[in-house]
Amino acid sequence: MIDFHCHVDLYPDPVTVLNRVEAEGIYLLAITTTPLAWAGMKQIIGNRKRVKAAVGLHPELVAERHAEVTLLESLISETRYVGEVGLDGSPQHRGSFPKQDEILRRVFRECAVHRGRVISIHSRAAASGVLDALSAHSDIGVPILHWFSGSMRELERAANLGCWFSVGPSMLASAKGRRLTEAMPSDRVLTETDAPFTRNGRSGPLMPWDVANAEADLANIWRMPIEGVRDRLLGNLRQLVASTKIMNVASAEPSRASEP
Ligand code: MN
Repeated sequence: MIDFHCHVDLYPDPVTVLNRVEAEGIYLLAITTTPLAWAGMKQIIGNRKRVKAAVGLHPELVAERHAEVTLLESLISETRYVGEVGLDGSPQHRGSFPKQDEILRRVFRECAVHRGRVISIHSRAAASGVLDALSAHSDIGVPILHWFSGSMRELERAANLGCWFSVGPSMLASAKGRRLTEAMPSDRVLTETDAPFTRNGRSGPLMPWDVANAEADLANIWRMPIEGVRDRLLGNLRQLVASTKIMNVASAEPSRASEP
């Protein structure tokens, strides 16, 4: 299983969660919302081979934390994975939108300086803005639109720009989310939870292994058995890792032995 967008450090007991993630062989991308959380996240992860950390600055935090962008830029040299970054155009964050846009473009520039990163991108109520920023930058690596909620037309534009997509149980619970997912290029789809912000009914936050629910939805959408879904997702992840190696990323991590 793959959870490619999980704020694992925000669970009350992240180490217990990661121990089960490791025991179940789940591939997990641990997403930070501020670069100040980077060091702590790396410490929590330790040397778990299937868990990688991404450094980010969440657009919802830009109003208060925009000064952290210089730290974010400097940390991009240390990792192949960047996120969560992006734009949020919903009413409560519209005030910081110009700042969000400036920061996103600085992040893209920095990713290009380092010959590309895997970037998990937030685009709520701002899909066109994110796609405009992507169009203006080349060689940034692989953009992954997480929980994409734009229009069908924006989805088509994103696919044409080479974007990947990560989809989770919350997105797939809505008819719109399922329609968008059906229209995504299936060789550029990964699963995610966006936990612990997302909830599993009344039973608390989603857990990384709840991506099983997304796999079941994908089995319906792709009309294939669950084993086929898992093979495809793992194949996609292998492809992603392979393509980022081709990018000749400078900051090689010590062990890639158990990468897919
Ligand atoms: Mn998130």
